[in-house]
Amino acid sequence: MTERILITGGAGCIGSDLAKSLLDRGSHVTVIDNLSSGKIEHLREMLAHERFRFIEADLLDRAAIDAAMPGTQMVWHLAANPDVKYVDGDATDKDLQQNTIATYNVLESMRVHGVKRLAFSSTSAVYGISEKQPIAENNPMHPISLYGATKLGCEALISAFHSLFGIDCWIFRFANIIGPKVRKKGRTVIGDFVDRLRKDPSCLRILGNGLQAKSYLLGRECIEAMLFAVDAVPSGQCIFNLGCPDNLEVREIAAMVVEAMRLPDVRFEFTGGEGGWPGDVPRFRLDVTAINQLGWTARLSSREAVAIAIRSTLDNAN
Ligand code: NAD
Repeated sequence: MTERILITGGAGCIGSDLAKSLLDRGSHVTVIDNLSSGKIEHLREMLAHERFRFIEADLLDRAAIDAAMPGTQMVWHLAANPDVKYVDGDATDKDLQQNTIATYNVLESMRVHGVKRLAFSSTSAVYGISEKQPIAENNPMHPISLYGATKLGCEALISAFHSLFGIDCWIFRFANIIGPKVRKKGRTVIGDFVDRLRKDPSCLRILGNGLQAKSYLLGRECIEAMLFAVDAVPSGQCIFNLGCPDNLEVREIAAMVVEAMRLPDVRFEFTGGEGGWPGDVPRFRLDVTAINQLGWTARLSSREAVAIAIRSTLDNAN
């Protein structure tokens, strides 16, 4: 069946690749995005496609969502403030607005327009620091960032809209998703290292003690996994960790970037502390048994995914 899809945040790094995949599957795709961290360039090759429509609008504007919603059969809700970091002086309601309120607006518009299918990009940040590793979907959740807390709020709202109004939902808790595309804000570790080393090839400042270890997944594998899960679980409410089972330390990523840039003599400077910033979860591994048992497994380890993302980041920037 050809579906009519609405992607929020579809001008973002992940959303734009998802839009391309859905177009390739024959869907009609509408993207709604305020371009706050996404880029129109990410959509360039799709803009003229007869089954593609781009609406520049903010999800805090309910009327704009209502205008885009009629005829939609499924929403992929990816728009969010993508930056996990809280920086002193930031408004403490930024994530609440961009994540939770925006999600409420999407859900309410879906309810009003009778749209019954929602996929949502959540995050492993909802778990916070867990003694138990790897972290499974039923792990207790104690987020330590405003980003993680408000994404958990989104999940709670989605669950309530599922129970009350019968909206089928697929919630994906992502590992760190990496690839060649760069956001306007909220740079990923690879882009950050490459930028810093381009400016000063003799010294690399690394946030924290470098021992932070996270799970990494290539964007294309993330999209493949989401599409697989939506096809495999036709209705209801489901939650999946998306990643690979291992993790990789930040200092190893730094060494891989230095090697890929062929820099002979780089001094690493660590800012110190276990986490890279307040609210950073320093070390985690995801239990991905649920998605594996459904039939999807990441082909690449964190190290392999990072190596590919470093290469494509360098190629893209050349
Ligand atoms: P991204 O910044 O590239 O994409 C987010 C998009 O949402 C951007 O295009 C931005 O312009 C748009 N947007 C933000 N606020 C909006 C608003 N109020 N109205 C309309 N558009 C808005 O980030 P990404 O890495 O592609 O992330 C996509 C989703 O995946 C986000 O929900 C993010 O929280 C989630 N996620 C990403 C990672 C990761 O490592 N990249 C990890 C966990 C979860």
